[in-house]
Amino acid sequence: MIKTMTGEWTRRRFFAGLAAAGVAGCFVQRGEPALAQTVLSSDEAIRELIAGNERFVAGNITSFPEDLKILKAKTVDKQEPFVSVLACADSRIPVELIFDQTIGHIFVSRVAGNMVTPEIVASLEYGVAVLGTKAILVMGHTGCGAIAAAIQAKEVPGQISVLYQHLMPAIAGAHGDISLAVKMNAAYQAKLLSESSTVIAKAIKDGGVKVVSGSYDLGTGRVTLSA
Ligand SMILES: [Zn+2]
Repeated sequence: MIKTMTGEWTRRRFFAGLAAAGVAGCFVQRGEPALAQTVLSSDEAIRELIAGNERFVAGNITSFPEDLKILKAKTVDKQEPFVSVLACADSRIPVELIFDQTIGHIFVSRVAGNMVTPEIVASLEYGVAVLGTKAILVMGHTGCGAIAAAIQAKEVPGQISVLYQHLMPAIAGAHGDISLAVKMNAAYQAKLLSESSTVIAKAIKDGGVKVVSGSYDLGTGRVTLSA
């Protein structure tokens, strides 16, 4: 098990062994052989993501010991992320870190307010249609500045207010409650994505893809999926 190994040389030899054995993917955190990530089902992908978040919350990060040089080398020609995540641009949400993942594992799209725009749809469609991700998590977070600003309809410089139009329909029913608005927005954007993308809608219908929403708690580090 990688966790019981100590020393750079030992880790390198372990990873080199995996590479030599032609093992696809890069999962080694739990002492298991690496998996081809795209073989995960939707439910397995979501479970993997949440299990990683539980390790993060518990302070048991296991992705750090992975050899980044080898991971980079193994992913130069292809990527096989097991899941896509749409998250806010907020600096307090380093997506890979909070799910205890590293290079090549998560196909991440980020924009303030984790909203679905045509460019975001295009990115996530690429994740599903080309890379084969079986699950998409749309993730809001507590204390989201974009949502707070939209609720208050704050006057903001430049083009920042462009964000509001994407958030207003989602948060209209929250009556100023930011925590509720964050959850409503994530659910709304997930629904919008599921319905507005022909690629993703078909993948859902065919049973190959799940789109879920959730929220990240800045204080606890925990991600809670919406029911
Ligand atoms: Zn935010």
